[in-house]
Amino acid sequence: MRVLIAEDEPTAARLLTRELESQGYRVFVASNGREALELAERENLSLVLTDWIMPEMDGLELCRALREHPDKSRYHYVIMISSRSSPKDRENAMTARIDDFLVKPYDQGELRARLGVARRVLEMQERLHNQNVKLVRSQEELLQANLHLTEATEIAEYARNRSLQLFEELPVAGFTYDTSGCIFEWNRRAESVFGINAHEVMGREVWDVLGAKLVGKREQGQIRRVFEGGSFEDSPWSDGSNFFLVSSHCIKNRDGIVVGAVSTAVDVTQQRRAELLIERQKQDLVELNGKLQALAVTDGLTGIPNHRAFQERLHGLTEQANVGLGFSLAMVDVDHFKHFNDTYGHQAGDEVLRKTAECLIGNLRGSDFVARYGGEEFAILFRGVDEESAVQLCDRLRARIESIETPYSKITASFGVATWGTAATDAEDLIVAADQAMYLAKREGRNRVCFHSQLQKAA
Ligand code: GH3
Ligand code: MG
Ligand code: MG
Repeated sequence: MRVLIAEDEPTAARLLTRELESQGYRVFVASNGREALELAERENLSLVLTDWIMPEMDGLELCRALREHPDKSRYHYVIMISSRSSPKDRENAMTARIDDFLVKPYDQGELRARLGVARRVLEMQERLHNQNVKLVRSQEELLQANLHLTEATEIAEYARNRSLQLFEELPVAGFTYDTSGCIFEWNRRAESVFGINAHEVMGREVWDVLGAKLVGKREQGQIRRVFEGGSFEDSPWSDGSNFFLVSSHCIKNRDGIVVGAVSTAVDVTQQRRAELLIERQKQDLVELNGKLQALAVTDGLTGIPNHRAFQERLHGLTEQANVGLGFSLAMVDVDHFKHFNDTYGHQAGDEVLRKTAECLIGNLRGSDFVARYGGEEFAILFRGVDEESAVQLCDRLRARIESIETPYSKITASFGVATWGTAATDAEDLIVAADQAMYLAKREGRNRVCFHSQLQKAA
């Protein structure tokens, strides 16, 4: 420990120095207050033993000057050693804020004890000072951390406001809700798309607000899966009159636990309605096309296939016949048809044609085909049927025609049969052959079935 002695009397200074050095102190000596002040400052000395009366600056002035040191953390422990010992002197010394007072001549033991106190006080003072320094430093650090925290909070607040604003201004309906379905946010577009204001939906359940028609079992299932951590994109939702593409994603807290969901809904009602209209028009067109196609191959008067349909079927059968499946053709001509027209009028003639067609189509098998060939003539194609069987089938048809009930005279028809392969191997030739057989039937008295082989026999 270092100590400063301020003493103008050299002998006293020497004695005191010796004493202090014997106690292990390192001693600095000044011969007046001014010198002592400089030495204390230069050597950074805290423990000062000072005489009272000295030239230039006395002990009291020295003490006052030390107390006014600009560095308030520096403390000087000042012990006054003086022969002045009256109560008034002590009071003066204390007023000058000295720490201790020793009266000359002092006792060695007492000096040691007083110095011990001084050391403890100075050590305590230093500890206090160090703690104070630490305290100030940690206060500064705390302040700095606080500044960072404030800054981070401001940034977070700004980001939150910004994302809220973005959410609010989204060009699609957007809303958030917790895992019990309770709505928390409902943006401006949601208000206009669903026609419900935000203040009306707060705290209500999302399925309750949107309605059971829009959020049915399927949609509730989708939301449940989002609450399990999933998501879905552009799922078509509709309440029957409005159409939306809905996307949903789960919202997780910091621990990764799902606490709710955010959904967006794009209103596609206009597009969907236009699509449905186009779809319906397409269907109408397909239907119309079908009807037109049917009309193209249907005879307008009788409703059975027309000449064109017959030609198509005939060529189909000739192709099949070329790979082994034969067929027969019968040409059917209503007998004395002109008579119906002439006697009962054309309406009656038409009626006879309709009834005959009805009779033919009603008595044919699924594999057979009948068409109006033209005028009062019909053509029948028998698939997989030879001449003999075709004649039998025709004869049955002939009998059926004969039994048609009419308000007019009896209807009869003449049949001519020709079979592919035996009568002809060409479609046109086959028609000619069947026609020839039919004319044979006419010649032979009508209301009968003739076949091509008979012609060859007749020839
Ligand atoms: P045949 O026994 O020799 O066959 O005598 P037909 O009178 O039946 O034969 P013809 O060829 O002399 O007369 C057929 C008539 O059928 C002539 C035509 O005006 C009439 N006809 C043709 N197509 C139609 C039609 O769609 N409706 C009506 N009502 N008459 C038709
Ligand atoms: Mg005819
Ligand atoms: Mg006829």
